[in-house]
Amino acid sequence: MAGNNYKLDTKLIHAGVEPDPTTGAIMTPIYQTSTYVQAAPGDHKGYEYARTQNPTRTVLQNSLAAIENGNFALCFGSGMAATDAVIKLLHPGDEVIVSNDLYGGTYRIMTKVFANYGINFHFIDMNDAQSIVSRINERTKMIWIETPTNPLLNIIDIAACAAIAKENNLLLVCDNTFASPYLQNPLDFGADIVLHSATKYLGGHSDVVHGALIMNDEDLEQRLKFIQNSCGAVPGPHDCWLVLRGIKTLHVRMQRHCENGAAVARYLRGNPKVGKVLWVGFEDHPNHHIAVKQMRGFGGMISFTLKDDNIEEALSVLKKTKLFALAESLGGVESLIGHPATMTHASIPREDRIKNGLVDSLIRLSVGIEDISDLIEDLEQAIG
Ligand SMILES: *Cc1c(COP(=O)(O)O)cnc(C)c1O
Repeated sequence: MAGNNYKLDTKLIHAGVEPDPTTGAIMTPIYQTSTYVQAAPGDHKGYEYARTQNPTRTVLQNSLAAIENGNFALCFGSGMAATDAVIKLLHPGDEVIVSNDLYGGTYRIMTKVFANYGINFHFIDMNDAQSIVSRINERTKMIWIETPTNPLLNIIDIAACAAIAKENNLLLVCDNTFASPYLQNPLDFGADIVLHSATKYLGGHSDVVHGALIMNDEDLEQRLKFIQNSCGAVPGPHDCWLVLRGIKTLHVRMQRHCENGAAVARYLRGNPKVGKVLWVGFEDHPNHHIAVKQMRGFGGMISFTLKDDNIEEALSVLKKTKLFALAESLGGVESLIGHPATMTHASIPREDRIKNGLVDSLIRLSVGIEDISDLIEDLEQAIG
């Protein structure tokens, strides 16, 4: 594959991408077609029908595989479509052990969709990976982690989970959306499947919904590709092109997300109205030592609570920010603010969410790449 031996910053721009074979166009064209003409039945150029293959998608898949240090990538119409495809590897009666602090939509598809198909999900605290072991039985097939977790920014030890998965013949799935390939490559630590909502940092401009899976094992790739083609949740070529364009600046955007994230985290910690500040980069973060081992930086995701822990106080801060836009999603160039309890995690019952630390006043920030003094000023006038 082109450009695979380079450093990450170069791979982001070049890996998997060749000038267009017909015109030399340096940027991969958007192949807006549903089918491909064949010289005779079966005599084609590797492309038959656009649910199965599309050249814009192929280039993006090659790029994604390269930047996650994987052999294969598969693209989907959304992060949830990628999640759906992975769970379809399972059969009724199978069990999955899942980290309990995770994206609300992932919790929802597991408990409200696939539970009806006889697949059982056990949500547990994985701050100590060894707690997984006691939950494994002969029906367990998969371990599902998200790290850093959403929205509590806990860190799960990928290598420790991978060792447990290997020993028990389970698949380890790692949702790497929050870190992005710039900060973390789970396959390097033994994960079997890396999942991305490319809607977030990979796309990076809040203009596309897209998902991806990256893996090393060819048999696994074939099984997932069969599901991708059979179930058909594929992205259109224009969406693939937007993600491909986003990837080319991932490193410069992530550098600024990390810088701004660190500055905002330190500011919040000094604000007397703020309770806890959850940010992976603090040395007293309980799993900071694991973060340092598996991540190259700490990103722009920060959650914090208010000293007055109630929904009204939180909503008042949300109402007052001018630059931090109130919105679901994350990872775009613009700063966003959200209230997990009433937004992204509203589908999780209150007692479950509070038990896991997702309290009423918890506010989540996706720190963008604006000027840092404007961002801090905005938070200062909103929090007081
Ligand atoms: C957004 C998100 C998803 C779902 O992705 P969509 O592209 O919105 O379908 C999955 N996991 C995480 C961590 C996310 O943030």
